[in-house]
Amino acid sequence: MKIWNKFVAWLWTFRGGYAVRYVESDELPSNLARQTLTVAREDGELWVAGMICPCGCKAKLELMLLEEAKPRWDLRVDQKGRPTLSPSVWRNQGCKAHFWLRNGKIFWCRESVASA
Ligand SMILES: [Zn+2]
Repeated sequence: MKIWNKFVAWLWTFRGGYAVRYVESDELPSNLARQTLTVAREDGELWVAGMICPCGCKAKLELMLLEEAKPRWDLRVDQKGRPTLSPSVWRNQGCKAHFWLRNGKIFWCRESVASA
């Protein structure tokens, strides 16, 4: 993670956090919005969530939500439309970002800071 990316990511933490956007589609749109968890829904079933890597590297992260997918994530959305993902998101390639998305906010895990 470059210093500039870290700075930009830090700035974005002041922008009110993540919102959820649903798209009726069997795939994620190629252009994901910043500060948005885009969730693809088909026939009422949520199956994948996408977001831009919050570290600033601009990688597109795809998180499977289907029961039978591995690995998969649980998505909860509170009354204000703020998403929570569990478990944490850990990229095993590229920037190796490791973070939690909780109530629309990014919480960085120590390991990813230490290895950056
Ligand atoms: Zn990244």
